[in-house]
Amino acid sequence: MKWTKTLIQTLRDNPQDAEIDSHKLLMRAGICRKTAAGLFTFMPLGMRSLKKIEQIVREEMDAAGASEILMPALQPSELWRKTGRWDAMGANMFRLKDRAERDMAMGPTAEEEVTDLMTNIISSYRQLPLNVYQIQTKFRDETRPRFGLMRSKEFIMKDGYSFDVDAEAADKTYWTMYRAYERIFARCGLKATPVQADGGDMGDSMTHEFHALADAGEDAIAFCDGCGYAANTEKAERVCNPVFGKVDAPVEEVHTPNAKTIDQVAAFMGLDGSAFVKSLVYLADGEPVMVCVPGDRDVNEVKLRRYLGAKSVTLADYALVRDVSGAGVGSVGPVKPLKADVRIVADIGLKGASGCIVGANKDDYHLKNVDLDRDAKIAGYADLVIVREGDVCAKCGKKITIRRGIEVGQVFKLGTKYTKAFNTVYKDENAAETLCVMGCYGVGVSRTLQAVIEQSHDKDGIIWPSSVAPYQVVIENLDPSVEEVTKVADELEAELVRRGVDVIVDDREERPGVKFKDADLIGFPVRVVVGAKGLAGGGVEVKRRDEDKSKTRIVPVADAAAEIVRSL
Ligand SMILES: [Zn+2]
Repeated sequence: MKWTKTLIQTLRDNPQDAEIDSHKLLMRAGICRKTAAGLFTFMPLGMRSLKKIEQIVREEMDAAGASEILMPALQPSELWRKTGRWDAMGANMFRLKDRAERDMAMGPTAEEEVTDLMTNIISSYRQLPLNVYQIQTKFRDETRPRFGLMRSKEFIMKDGYSFDVDAEAADKTYWTMYRAYERIFARCGLKATPVQADGGDMGDSMTHEFHALADAGEDAIAFCDGCGYAANTEKAERVCNPVFGKVDAPVEEVHTPNAKTIDQVAAFMGLDGSAFVKSLVYLADGEPVMVCVPGDRDVNEVKLRRYLGAKSVTLADYALVRDVSGAGVGSVGPVKPLKADVRIVADIGLKGASGCIVGANKDDYHLKNVDLDRDAKIAGYADLVIVREGDVCAKCGKKITIRRGIEVGQVFKLGTKYTKAFNTVYKDENAAETLCVMGCYGVGVSRTLQAVIEQSHDKDGIIWPSSVAPYQVVIENLDPSVEEVTKVADELEAELVRRGVDVIVDDREERPGVKFKDADLIGFPVRVVVGAKGLAGGGVEVKRRDEDKSKTRIVPVADAAAEIVRSL
């Protein structure tokens, strides 16, 4: 391919709305162009990388026993209503009506669609297991599209779904997919690590997310170097040793006007902020619950929901907080709330808490010297906060570290949540009808592309891994108007193509500096320089993008192709 024959438009400046390096580089290197907030066009370079990632996904899915299909992105509402997700998806789902006023959705995912499909196909255990996938555009009405392809309104996903005879068989499929994912990301040149995650409302709790570790990642992941435990912070568990000494002083009410923050209240009382107990009122399936956590910690609503065995937990509004406690949000506490029968749960970090400060359930008042066991009716203690750096691993007791990640894939055990809703049954050996057990498996294909850039770039531009680079090699023809130089460049191109290498010849009449800058910005893995001066001096220059100038090799034209292939 010749540069002048394709469409490559690099930009000098970073787009103003780009916050992270990979987003800036996507635009500057001409991989994507923005159409509107959260909507992007893949330009020829981006399209080539995208196709390569898709091909790797295809090969690994096929090798793992899955078959590719393509379902409509436009989905009828009836399917979503069967599982209650027409309402549950809320504003995240793009909805529209067809001309007959039928509700439709632009699919954010396809569990309902595929389960409906399989319900009409599966009849006997002999057909199972079945495992299908598609690579398709998905839609999500993001509140705030940002970070380029990371959080866009339209994105390309590989979504796969498996149907097995029972949980044991589904488990086997799950781990087959897990291993396929490890291979997919490794082949894309991405360092992606599997971490345990919460299954949420997707049925069974067993799930792994694959995260590309990067400082710009949106997700926080807890790692334990001691035992290798890795979990996202929604899921990560911690243990706590008692930290409170016994304080026998009686509870004392303190007027705390104008003390807005925990530190202000503590300072007002001459105590340390760590003595503060933060109390929040939640609604768990409609029932108010008071939740107490150490003052410097945040409630993990996933853990809270699991602990309470509730379908949903949401923070109570001001009116309910006042109704339950008798005070505004800043002065809520577990000692004598207005509603005496409200259930109060506390984080394990508060076990044995004594000498603490709590809200007095009276505006602008706090209580000090509180002993939770003595003065409050705590229904139970559990790990209810988001883990943080330095917490103690629940598995081995070593310290947890927090790192950032970009979620590029996820494997889920769905159980029978969907097959029950659609009555997806098969007849077993005894002709008894049994529900199929499902799994689902996603790869963010367009997101993977950007994650590769986020993990692999420097100040000059992208450094593509050879496997997913738009072109593996750029031949810089420095003198396109000189016949001999162009002949060498074109012959080298032809020879590389024969050897199965993806190559582009930069045949623009531009200064070398401009060409080299673009080559570094786009990040072709190998750069070859062909110029009149070089040829007179003995050959062509070969350099990998990830090497510095000192590693440039002058190679005789006859050996160039072999050297380039070796460099890939
Ligand atoms: Zn550990």
